[in-house]
Amino acid sequence: MPANIIDGKEFAIRLRGKISESVSDLKDSHNIIPGLAVVLVGNDPASEIYVRNKGIQTKEADMNSYEFKMSEDTSEEELLSKVEELNNNSDVNGILVQFPVPNHISQQKVIETISPKKDVDGLHPINSGYLNSGLDGLVPCTPMGASILIKSSTDKLEGKNAVIIGRSNLVGKPVAQLLLKEHCTVTICHSRSKDLQDIAASADILVAAVGIPELVKGDWIKPGATVIDVGINRIDAPEKGENKTRLVGDVDFEAASKVAGHITPVPGGVGPMTIACLLLNTLNAFCEQNGFEKPNINI
Ligand code: NAP
Repeated sequence: MPANIIDGKEFAIRLRGKISESVSDLKDSHNIIPGLAVVLVGNDPASEIYVRNKGIQTKEADMNSYEFKMSEDTSEEELLSKVEELNNNSDVNGILVQFPVPNHISQQKVIETISPKKDVDGLHPINSGYLNSGLDGLVPCTPMGASILIKSSTDKLEGKNAVIIGRSNLVGKPVAQLLLKEHCTVTICHSRSKDLQDIAASADILVAAVGIPELVKGDWIKPGATVIDVGINRIDAPEKGENKTRLVGDVDFEAASKVAGHITPVPGGVGPMTIACLLLNTLNAFCEQNGFEKPNINI
Protein backbone atom coordinates (compact mmCIF):
# COMPACT_ATOMS: atom_id res chain seq x y z
CA MET A 1 0.00 0.00 0.00
CA PRO A 2 1.43 3.43 -0.86
CA ALA A 3 2.49 5.58 2.10
CA ASN A 4 0.38 8.33 3.59
CA ILE A 5 2.00 11.58 2.44
CA ILE A 6 2.43 13.93 5.41
CA ASP A 7 1.39 17.37 4.18
CA GLY A 8 3.71 19.74 6.05
CA LYS A 9 2.20 22.78 4.33
CA GLU A 10 -1.22 21.99 5.72
CA PHE A 11 0.17 21.37 9.24
CA ALA A 12 2.08 24.66 9.06
CA ILE A 13 -1.04 26.59 8.02
CA ARG A 14 -2.96 25.11 10.97
CA LEU A 15 -0.14 25.86 13.40
CA ARG A 16 0.21 29.45 12.18
CA GLY A 17 -3.56 29.89 12.47
CA LYS A 18 -3.49 28.78 16.14
CA ILE A 19 -0.52 31.06 16.85
CA SER A 20 -2.34 33.98 15.29
CA GLU A 21 -5.42 33.29 17.48
CA SER A 22 -3.23 33.27 20.61
CA VAL A 23 -1.56 36.52 19.59
CA SER A 24 -4.93 38.12 19.10
CA ASP A 25 -6.12 36.89 22.56
CA LEU A 26 -2.96 38.32 24.16
CA LYS A 27 -3.49 41.60 22.36
CA ASP A 28 -7.07 41.79 23.66
CA SER A 29 -6.11 40.94 27.23
CA HIS A 30 -2.76 42.77 27.61
CA ASN A 31 -2.58 45.15 24.66
CA ILE A 32 0.91 44.03 23.59
CA ILE A 33 2.09 41.68 20.86
CA PRO A 34 5.26 39.65 20.30
CA GLY A 35 8.09 40.98 18.14
CA LEU A 36 10.64 39.03 16.11
CA ALA A 37 13.90 40.59 14.89
CA VAL A 38 15.73 39.00 11.97
CA VAL A 39 19.24 40.10 11.08
CA LEU A 40 20.72 39.37 7.66
CA VAL A 41 24.39 40.03 6.92
CA GLY A 42 25.35 40.12 3.22
CA ASN A 43 23.42 39.50 0.01
CA ASP A 44 23.05 35.75 -0.26
CA PRO A 45 19.96 35.37 -2.52
CA ALA A 46 18.65 32.23 -0.74
CA SER A 47 19.01 33.90 2.68
CA GLU A 48 17.22 37.01 1.37
CA ILE A 49 14.26 34.82 0.34
CA TYR A 50 14.19 33.06 3.75
CA VAL A 51 14.30 36.40 5.59
CA ARG A 52 11.55 37.88 3.40
CA ASN A 53 9.31 34.84 4.03
CA LYS A 54 9.95 35.02 7.77
CA GLY A 55 8.96 38.71 7.77
CA ILE A 56 5.77 38.04 5.77
CA GLN A 57 4.66 35.14 7.98
CA THR A 58 5.49 37.05 11.19
CA LYS A 59 3.22 39.90 10.09
CA GLU A 60 0.51 37.44 8.98
CA ALA A 61 0.55 36.04 12.53
CA ASP A 62 -0.09 39.62 13.74
CA MET A 63 3.33 39.91 15.37
CA ASN A 64 5.76 42.76 14.93
CA SER A 65 8.55 42.01 12.47
CA TYR A 66 11.84 43.90 12.60
CA GLU A 67 14.34 43.30 9.79
CA PHE A 68 17.94 44.47 9.85
CA LYS A 69 20.06 44.19 6.69
CA MET A 70 23.77 44.61 7.27
CA SER A 71 26.41 44.74 4.55
CA GLU A 72 28.73 41.84 3.68
CA ASP A 73 31.71 43.72 5.20
CA THR A 74 30.01 44.18 8.61
CA SER A 75 32.61 43.37 11.27
CA GLU A 76 32.03 40.74 13.94
CA GLU A 77 32.07 43.49 16.56
CA GLU A 78 29.35 45.45 14.72
CA LEU A 79 27.13 42.37 14.42
CA LEU A 80 27.59 41.40 18.07
CA SER A 81 26.77 44.94 19.14
CA LYS A 82 23.55 44.85 17.03
CA VAL A 83 22.65 41.59 18.80
CA GLU A 84 23.32 43.20 22.22
CA GLU A 85 21.13 46.15 21.24
CA LEU A 86 18.29 43.73 20.37
CA ASN A 87 18.86 41.78 23.61
CA ASN A 88 18.18 45.04 25.45
CA ASN A 89 15.15 46.08 23.38
CA SER A 90 11.96 45.06 25.21
CA ASP A 91 9.87 45.26 22.00
CA VAL A 92 11.95 42.40 20.62
CA ASN A 93 11.07 39.00 22.09
CA GLY A 94 12.91 36.80 19.60
CA ILE A 95 16.19 37.30 17.72
CA LEU A 96 17.27 35.33 14.69
CA VAL A 97 20.54 35.95 12.87
CA GLN A 98 20.25 34.34 9.44
CA PHE A 99 23.05 31.82 8.87
CA PRO A 100 25.46 31.43 7.24
CA VAL A 101 27.18 34.68 8.20
CA PRO A 102 30.28 35.76 6.21
CA ASN A 103 33.45 33.77 7.02
CA HIS A 104 35.13 36.57 8.99
CA ILE A 105 32.35 36.34 11.63
CA SER A 106 32.24 33.50 14.15
CA GLN A 107 28.81 31.87 13.97
CA GLN A 108 29.35 30.37 17.43
CA LYS A 109 30.08 33.81 18.95
CA VAL A 110 26.85 35.12 17.43
CA ILE A 111 24.88 32.17 18.85
CA GLU A 112 26.36 32.71 22.32
CA THR A 113 25.73 36.49 22.27
CA ILE A 114 21.98 36.17 21.70
CA SER A 115 20.16 36.18 25.04
CA PRO A 116 19.03 32.57 25.72
CA LYS A 117 15.56 33.96 26.51
CA LYS A 118 15.33 35.47 22.99
CA ASP A 119 17.13 32.63 21.20
CA VAL A 120 14.22 31.55 18.98
CA ASP A 121 16.57 29.45 16.83
CA GLY A 122 17.24 27.36 19.97
CA LEU A 123 20.96 27.08 19.25
CA HIS A 124 22.41 28.73 22.39
CA PRO A 125 24.28 26.16 24.52
CA ILE A 126 21.96 27.01 27.43
CA ASN A 127 18.92 26.01 25.37
CA SER A 128 20.59 22.88 23.96
CA GLY A 129 21.59 22.07 27.56
CA TYR A 130 17.95 22.35 28.65
CA LEU A 131 16.90 20.07 25.80
CA ASN A 132 19.62 17.53 26.62
CA SER A 133 18.53 17.58 30.28
CA GLY A 134 14.88 17.02 29.33
CA LEU A 135 13.97 20.53 30.56
CA ASP A 136 11.87 23.25 28.93
CA GLY A 137 13.70 25.78 26.79
CA LEU A 138 13.66 27.10 23.26
CA VAL A 139 14.01 24.19 20.81
CA PRO A 140 15.48 24.52 17.28
CA CYS A 141 12.65 25.10 14.79
CA THR A 142 13.21 22.41 12.14
CA PRO A 143 13.55 19.59 14.71
CA MET A 144 10.44 20.87 16.49
CA GLY A 145 8.56 20.81 13.17
CA ALA A 146 9.84 17.29 12.40
CA SER A 147 8.75 16.11 15.84
CA ILE A 148 5.23 17.55 15.42
CA LEU A 149 4.88 15.72 12.08
CA ILE A 150 6.14 12.46 13.63
CA LYS A 151 3.72 12.70 16.55
CA SER A 152 0.83 13.43 14.20
CA SER A 153 1.47 10.36 12.08
CA THR A 154 2.72 7.71 14.50
CA ASP A 155 0.66 6.11 17.26
CA LYS A 156 2.40 5.74 20.60
CA LEU A 157 6.06 6.67 20.15
CA GLU A 158 7.09 4.94 23.36
CA GLY A 159 9.49 2.05 22.69
CA LYS A 160 9.70 2.68 18.93
CA ASN A 161 13.10 2.44 17.21
CA ALA A 162 14.04 5.85 15.85
CA VAL A 163 17.06 6.23 13.59
CA ILE A 164 18.38 9.71 12.85
CA ILE A 165 20.86 10.07 9.99
CA GLY A 166 22.84 13.27 10.70
CA ARG A 167 24.22 14.67 13.96
CA SER A 168 24.27 18.45 13.43
CA ASN A 169 23.44 20.80 16.31
CA LEU A 170 20.81 22.36 14.04
CA VAL A 171 18.86 19.21 13.16
CA GLY A 172 20.14 15.69 13.95
CA LYS A 173 21.01 16.03 17.65
CA PRO A 174 17.91 18.00 18.70
CA VAL A 175 15.61 15.63 16.77
CA ALA A 176 17.26 12.75 18.63
CA GLN A 177 16.69 14.48 21.99
CA LEU A 178 13.05 15.23 21.19
CA LEU A 179 12.41 11.57 20.30
CA LEU A 180 14.28 10.40 23.39
CA LYS A 181 11.94 12.59 25.41
CA GLU A 182 9.06 10.64 23.81
CA HIS A 183 10.69 7.39 25.03
CA CYS A 184 11.85 6.19 21.63
CA THR A 185 14.98 4.04 21.40
CA VAL A 186 17.22 6.40 19.45
CA THR A 187 20.19 5.65 17.20
CA ILE A 188 22.15 8.53 15.67
CA CYS A 189 24.15 7.87 12.48
CA HIS A 190 26.73 10.10 10.79
CA SER A 191 29.36 10.06 8.07
CA ARG A 192 31.53 7.50 9.89
CA SER A 193 28.69 5.12 10.72
CA LYS A 194 29.05 1.59 9.37
CA ASP A 195 26.21 -0.51 7.94
CA LEU A 196 23.96 2.52 7.52
CA GLN A 197 21.47 0.59 5.40
CA ASP A 198 21.02 -2.12 8.05
CA ILE A 199 20.60 0.43 10.84
CA ALA A 200 18.08 2.40 8.76
CA ALA A 201 16.15 -0.81 8.06
CA SER A 202 15.62 -1.29 11.82
CA ALA A 203 13.81 2.05 12.13
CA ASP A 204 10.13 2.44 12.93
CA ILE A 205 10.87 6.16 12.55
CA LEU A 206 13.60 7.20 10.14
CA VAL A 207 14.76 10.83 10.01
CA ALA A 208 17.21 11.83 7.27
CA ALA A 209 19.08 15.11 7.86
CA VAL A 210 22.21 14.75 5.77
CA GLY A 211 22.26 16.96 2.69
CA ILE A 212 22.97 14.19 0.15
CA PRO A 213 20.32 13.90 -2.58
CA GLU A 214 18.33 10.65 -2.33
CA LEU A 215 20.92 8.91 -0.14
CA VAL A 216 18.22 6.76 1.51
CA LYS A 217 16.90 4.15 -0.92
CA GLY A 218 13.55 2.36 -0.89
CA ASP A 219 15.09 -0.93 0.25
CA TRP A 220 16.60 0.79 3.33
CA ILE A 221 13.12 1.29 4.75
CA LYS A 222 11.22 -1.02 7.07
CA PRO A 223 7.72 -1.61 5.68
CA GLY A 224 5.25 0.73 7.38
CA ALA A 225 7.93 3.02 8.89
CA THR A 226 7.46 6.76 9.31
CA VAL A 227 10.04 8.53 7.12
CA ILE A 228 10.86 12.17 7.78
CA ASP A 229 13.03 13.76 5.11
CA VAL A 230 14.67 16.96 6.36
CA GLY A 231 17.13 17.28 3.45
CA ILE A 232 16.74 20.03 0.89
CA ASN A 233 18.97 19.53 -2.14
CA ARG A 234 18.87 21.28 -5.49
CA ILE A 235 19.76 19.01 -8.40
CA ASP A 236 19.86 19.41 -12.19
CA ALA A 237 16.57 18.63 -13.92
CA PRO A 238 17.36 18.29 -17.65
CA GLU A 239 13.88 16.78 -18.14
CA LYS A 240 12.45 20.26 -17.35
CA GLY A 241 14.67 21.97 -19.93
CA GLU A 242 18.13 23.46 -20.22
CA ASN A 243 19.67 24.77 -16.95
CA LYS A 244 16.57 23.78 -14.99
CA THR A 245 16.81 22.41 -11.44
CA ARG A 246 14.50 20.84 -8.90
CA LEU A 247 14.50 20.19 -5.15
CA VAL A 248 14.87 16.70 -3.74
CA GLY A 249 15.33 15.40 -0.23
CA ASP A 250 17.79 12.94 1.28
CA VAL A 251 15.33 10.10 0.58
CA ASP A 252 14.46 8.53 -2.77
CA PHE A 253 10.82 9.57 -2.39
CA GLU A 254 9.36 7.54 -5.23
CA ALA A 255 10.83 4.24 -4.05
CA ALA A 256 10.43 4.99 -0.33
CA SER A 257 6.77 5.95 -0.61
CA LYS A 258 6.00 2.42 -1.87
CA VAL A 259 7.37 0.91 1.38
CA ALA A 260 6.88 3.49 4.16
CA GLY A 261 3.69 3.90 6.18
CA HIS A 262 4.00 7.70 6.34
CA ILE A 263 6.46 9.94 4.53
CA THR A 264 7.17 13.66 4.14
CA PRO A 265 7.70 15.00 0.60
CA VAL A 266 10.36 17.53 -0.42
CA PRO A 267 9.32 20.25 -0.93
CA GLY A 268 6.20 20.56 1.21
CA GLY A 269 7.12 18.35 4.17
CA VAL A 270 9.32 19.49 7.04
CA GLY A 271 10.35 22.75 5.30
CA PRO A 272 7.10 24.71 5.83
CA MET A 273 7.04 23.75 9.53
CA THR A 274 10.29 25.61 10.23
CA ILE A 275 8.93 29.17 10.07
CA ALA A 276 5.70 28.13 11.84
CA CYS A 277 7.82 26.77 14.72
CA LEU A 278 9.91 29.96 14.71
CA LEU A 279 6.68 31.90 15.32
CA LEU A 280 5.69 29.48 18.07
CA ASN A 281 9.08 29.98 19.75
CA THR A 282 8.63 33.77 19.47
CA LEU A 283 5.19 33.55 21.06
CA ASN A 284 6.49 31.32 23.88
CA ALA A 285 9.52 33.58 24.45
CA PHE A 286 7.18 36.60 24.61
CA CYS A 287 4.97 34.88 27.22
CA GLU A 288 7.99 33.83 29.29
CA GLN A 289 9.49 37.35 29.20
CA ASN A 290 6.19 38.95 30.24
CA GLY A 291 5.17 36.41 32.89
CA PHE A 292 2.15 35.23 30.86
CA GLU A 293 1.06 31.62 30.77
CA LYS A 294 2.24 29.93 27.56
CA PRO A 295 -0.65 28.97 25.27
CA ASN A 296 -1.28 25.26 24.93
CA ILE A 297 -1.11 24.88 21.16
CA ASN A 298 -1.92 21.47 19.72
CA ILE A 299 -2.46 20.70 16.06
P1 NAP B 1 25.07 19.39 8.26
O1 NAP B 1 25.37 20.30 9.37
O2 NAP B 1 25.94 19.41 7.03
O3 NAP B 1 25.07 17.90 8.84
C1 NAP B 1 24.96 16.80 7.99
C2 NAP B 1 25.07 15.53 8.80
O4 NAP B 1 25.00 14.42 7.90
C3 NAP B 1 26.40 15.40 9.55
O5 NAP B 1 26.17 14.93 10.86
C4 NAP B 1 27.18 14.37 8.74
O6 NAP B 1 28.04 13.55 9.50
C5 NAP B 1 26.06 13.51 8.18
N1 NAP B 1 26.48 12.85 6.95
C6 NAP B 1 27.15 13.35 5.91
N2 NAP B 1 27.36 12.41 4.97
C7 NAP B 1 26.83 11.27 5.46
C8 NAP B 1 26.72 9.95 4.98
N3 NAP B 1 27.23 9.59 3.79
N4 NAP B 1 26.13 9.03 5.74
C9 NAP B 1 25.61 9.35 6.95
N5 NAP B 1 25.67 10.60 7.47
C10 NAP B 1 26.26 11.55 6.73
O7 NAP B 1 23.59 19.59 7.71
P2 NAP B 1 22.26 20.06 8.51
O8 NAP B 1 22.33 21.51 8.76
O9 NAP B 1 21.97 19.13 9.61
O10 NAP B 1 21.18 19.86 7.33
C11 NAP B 1 20.91 18.59 6.79
C12 NAP B 1 19.95 18.74 5.63
O11 NAP B 1 18.74 19.31 6.10
C13 NAP B 1 20.43 19.67 4.51
O12 NAP B 1 19.96 19.18 3.27
C14 NAP B 1 19.76 20.97 4.84
O13 NAP B 1 19.54 21.78 3.68
C15 NAP B 1 18.44 20.49 5.37
N6 NAP B 1 17.80 21.45 6.30
C16 NAP B 1 16.50 21.74 6.09
C17 NAP B 1 15.85 22.63 6.93
C18 NAP B 1 14.40 22.93 6.70
O14 NAP B 1 13.66 22.11 6.27
N7 NAP B 1 13.93 24.09 6.96
C19 NAP B 1 16.53 23.23 7.98
C20 NAP B 1 17.86 22.87 8.20
C21 NAP B 1 18.48 21.97 7.37
P3 NAP B 1 29.35 14.11 10.27
O15 NAP B 1 28.83 14.77 11.50
O16 NAP B 1 30.12 12.88 10.54
O17 NAP B 1 30.01 15.06 9.33
